[in-house]
Amino acid sequence: MDFSLSPEQSQIRDMVSEFVDEEIRPVAADIDHEDEFPADLVSEMGDLGLMGMPFPEEYGGAGLDYHSYAIGLEEISRGSGGLGTVVAAHTSLAGNMLYEFGDEAQKETYLAPLARGEEIGAFALSEPQAGSDVPAMGTTAERDGEEYVVNGNKLWISNGSVADTVTLFAKTDPEAGNRGISSFVVRPEGDDGFHVEGTEEKLGDKGCPTAELRFDDMRIPADRRIGEEGRGFVHALKTLNGGRITIAARGVGIAQAALDEALRYAQDREQFDQPGC
Ligand SMILES: Cc1cc2nc3c(=O)[nH]c(=O)nc-3n(C[C@H](O)[C@H](O)[C@H](O)COP(=O)(O)OP(=O)(O)OC[C@H]3O[C@@H](n4cnc5c(N)ncnc54)[C@H](O)[C@@H]3O)c2cc1C
Repeated sequence: MDFSLSPEQSQIRDMVSEFVDEEIRPVAADIDHEDEFPADLVSEMGDLGLMGMPFPEEYGGAGLDYHSYAIGLEEISRGSGGLGTVVAAHTSLAGNMLYEFGDEAQKETYLAPLARGEEIGAFALSEPQAGSDVPAMGTTAERDGEEYVVNGNKLWISNGSVADTVTLFAKTDPEAGNRGISSFVVRPEGDDGFHVEGTEEKLGDKGCPTAELRFDDMRIPADRRIGEEGRGFVHALKTLNGGRITIAARGVGIAQAALDEALRYAQDREQFDQPGC
């Protein structure tokens, strides 16, 4: 497979790289020390189209191919690993769930503000007893007329405490194993019963809040279900597959930052080791 960059992809890399050097790198140490979600920086990135890179322009995105998105994310992660997680969870997970499986109204209402960077997205799948073993989840969504009533909790949700839209997975048929899971759009601001329990104190990946969420009799309209009932497990696995590519891109970006730092250190040492210093 040919991974050499097209002229357009090189242009995108140079544009993001310049933004990273001018706007992200100077504040990266502050993000690491303060561990606060960098809302202003994210808003600036939204203006540049960096919060919706792979989505079509009709849904507010930048209309880039997935390779260009990975290149952009690699650059952002070179500037700040935590910011890379913010963008990846927002785009590859929350955004892609809506783009791939949402209906037209859900794309216009929930995906477009994410892609324009006006709102933040999160993807809530994992639970204390359900990481790799997704069907072990305990969160339920019980149908009640034209609504679902959601109860349960989620753990380690990137952007979970700052998200405007959360794509949520819950059991609609607890007896049906992986075929009994459905996916939904949750709006923390307006959905009573949505609670942020707290955020993790992590060793790294700072600036991207990793939250614990709780749902107490949270009622959401039935039209917030994404796709058909029982398709949530398939939605999750397909979305996570797309997300893996961007995890690799983030790793490359962080490795590049470490290499740059090591070279700078070596150069400083060389100067220091000169006779007379
Ligand atoms: C910083 C951070 C951010 C995160 N963000 C999100 C997010 O935004 N949304 C979200 O939903 N989740 C998120 N997660 C959760 C993450 O997806 C889970 O950690 C992951 O699914 C693994 O689950 P677990 O930690 O319970 O490990 P486990 O599932 O318990 O796995 C532990 C180890 O056992 C291995 N293992 C598991 N099952 C088997 C098996 N059957 N056979 C052999 N080996 C096995 C695994 O490979 C792993 O090495 C995040 C986690 C972190 C640390």
